[in-house]
Amino acid sequence: MAKIIAVALPKGGVGKTTTAVNLAASLAVAEQRTLLIDMDTFGASGLSLGFTNGTIKAGLYEVFNFVAGIQSAIHKTELSFLDIIPINVQSLHAEERLTRLADNRSMLKNFLRAIVHQYDYIILDCPPVLRGLSTNALTAADSVLMPVKSGHFALDAVDKLFTYLEWIREVANKSLQVEGILITMHEPNTRVTDITMRELQAKYRRHMFRTFIPKNISLGEASFYGKAAIMYKVNSRGSVAYLTLAREIIAHAREEQTLKLQPSIVQAAVTQAQTVI
Ligand code: ATP
Ligand code: MG
Repeated sequence: MAKIIAVALPKGGVGKTTTAVNLAASLAVAEQRTLLIDMDTFGASGLSLGFTNGTIKAGLYEVFNFVAGIQSAIHKTELSFLDIIPINVQSLHAEERLTRLADNRSMLKNFLRAIVHQYDYIILDCPPVLRGLSTNALTAADSVLMPVKSGHFALDAVDKLFTYLEWIREVANKSLQVEGILITMHEPNTRVTDITMRELQAKYRRHMFRTFIPKNISLGEASFYGKAAIMYKVNSRGSVAYLTLAREIIAHAREEQTLKLQPSIVQAAVTQAQTVI
């Protein structure tokens, strides 16, 4: 059963797509069966992995319109453990139609039921607004990963998302967790970086990832060439940081699994002890 992680923040250009694509690729390299879903009508996740209008057979738009089943919208990538459901929205009319369909916030959750057992992780790349497809993503997700651009005034967007999560938990997804706040485009020892870090740590310390993503030109270059950074320059600081993030997320998921299993392990031990006595 996949862990579903929504990559979201109501602010543009903070590294959501870069994180979704490179985290998904890093999980795949660690041999975790991973599906990336492009939830933003710009289609940037698909483009970052080399998918264009011509190469997308059916994507999320067709699934939401019941023109294609979710299984047939899955595209293979050059990494054997990584699949993607891209999105192909070419007109304003199609965009408006998708927004209307996404008013039903349970659409994605219902579609995913058919494929959730095929993967270890499903990563959702959300748009920078909290409605429509983002609401669908947060309704379907187990947890939310919030990328925050270093040196940007970010606290407002993080506060806004935390408030939205409370509402989502009340109306649609009571077990939604915070996976973590991820600092992206980090430039150490600059005054603005120090201010961002101080503000975030004062309020959200327990949610901060240990891994930071450095500002690294290879990440932008890789997406320009339609590749995950790991397939472009595996030794770049950006690739290594996303591999480290994947390791942190896998370790966290294993801890959660152990905690879930604990009651049954304790019960088994008690039963065994009783048999011996
Ligand atoms: P949007 O809200 O528009 O969907 P986004 O939050 O998905 O934006 P990205 O598209 O991932 O943000 O990143 C914005 C820009 O910053 C891109 O040009 C990307 O290549 C660049 N970028 C992202 N992360 C880094 C990084 N760590 N170092 C350098 N450049 C980066
Ligand atoms: Mg994006």
